[in-house]
Amino acid sequence: MTNKILPTYARTDITFDHGDGCELVATNGDRYLDFGAGIAVNSLGHGHPLLVEAIQNQAAKLMHVSNLYKIDGQERLADRLCEHTFADKVFFANSGAEANECAVKMARRYQSAAGKPERYRVITFAGGFHGRTLAMIAAGGQAKHLEGFGPKVDGFDQVPLGDVEALKDLISDETAALMIEPIQGEGGIHSAEVDFLKELRALSDKYGLVLIFDEVQTGVGRTGALYSYQQYGVEPDILTTAKGLGGGFPVGACLAKDDVAHAMVAGTHGSTFGGNPLAMAAANAVLDIVLEPGFLENVREKGLLLKQKLASVIDQYPDVFDLVRGEGLLLGLHAKVSPQDVVAACFDEKLLCVPAGDNVVRILPPLIANAEEFDRAIASLERAAATLTKRIVEDQAPS
Ligand SMILES: *Cc1c(COP(=O)(O)O)cnc(C)c1O
Repeated sequence: MTNKILPTYARTDITFDHGDGCELVATNGDRYLDFGAGIAVNSLGHGHPLLVEAIQNQAAKLMHVSNLYKIDGQERLADRLCEHTFADKVFFANSGAEANECAVKMARRYQSAAGKPERYRVITFAGGFHGRTLAMIAAGGQAKHLEGFGPKVDGFDQVPLGDVEALKDLISDETAALMIEPIQGEGGIHSAEVDFLKELRALSDKYGLVLIFDEVQTGVGRTGALYSYQQYGVEPDILTTAKGLGGGFPVGACLAKDDVAHAMVAGTHGSTFGGNPLAMAAANAVLDIVLEPGFLENVREKGLLLKQKLASVIDQYPDVFDLVRGEGLLLGLHAKVSPQDVVAACFDEKLLCVPAGDNVVRILPPLIANAEEFDRAIASLERAAATLTKRIVEDQAPS
């Protein structure tokens, strides 16, 4: 094996050859149930015929054309995203971090155009994750992501999630925006309280701040709504989306109300690849399915079912897990052992899941997963939990 890949990921020693629905097939023929879904990306599983067909047809027709020209797929996708959300305008990017960069630039520019150029600071929440660009590691504020990369990009301050008083204390004449994940994903599936989001909305209105929801992980049906703010009943001014939007094809978007978007005039932002016809075909195909009548309701029902099944695993293996949380198919199992050990034990049982912060293992099946696949996943999880329990008992035995 050559070793020319920058080792920024601790990779498991396996290579997948192809995917089939909720399964990934390794080069040695082993089949794995994919309940990580590429970290909430493969919303339609692997090889979904409609997604594949849309990408194949578009690839043969036109893959890329510059944003110097009109792009039909972009207009269609923007119309649909606006029709089904609070938004009036959309900017297309290629990733979550890029969508967030657009959101922060837009918020600052909005304040500047409103005659308040001194308002550039963005308040974010401890444990949050917004991507890995220099600005977004500052937005996340996590020491492990910032260390060694020089001065933290100025203009981002964190307060604890749910701490209204700390937030009020921090809001100043320099504050432009509040940015939050309604449910923290990387941080360990921490849902903001409804009242807290309502408070953010009220404070934003009171002080003229822009409220940004980072729905990169929660979006596109993952929580059982197109976007989770719709379940919370609290509207942002700007919303970012990526991960599940392309069903595996890289695409991100920044959605906004007209009154905050209006300052983003020609020349203020751009992306060579953002909104290219191929990405738009993929995202439009994903929406064709996610917006089908009953699809989101089905995600909510399946989410409840899976959560119940996970709760029964906790009951059986109380030394390994102590709680399950999350919404729809964005679920987190809080572990009493290292989440990396849980993920490794599940891997040995041919189940893929993803570690997160705060000792949580994320369970993120494709949105198309069915009850039979849940049962198989739970059986694997139980075997993994049994192995881990045995290990704990052995470790505790007097030597
Ligand atoms: C994954 C994620 C990002 C970053 O997305 P990239 O596509 O990796 O840049 C940003 N915000 C949230 C909430 C995420 O989960």
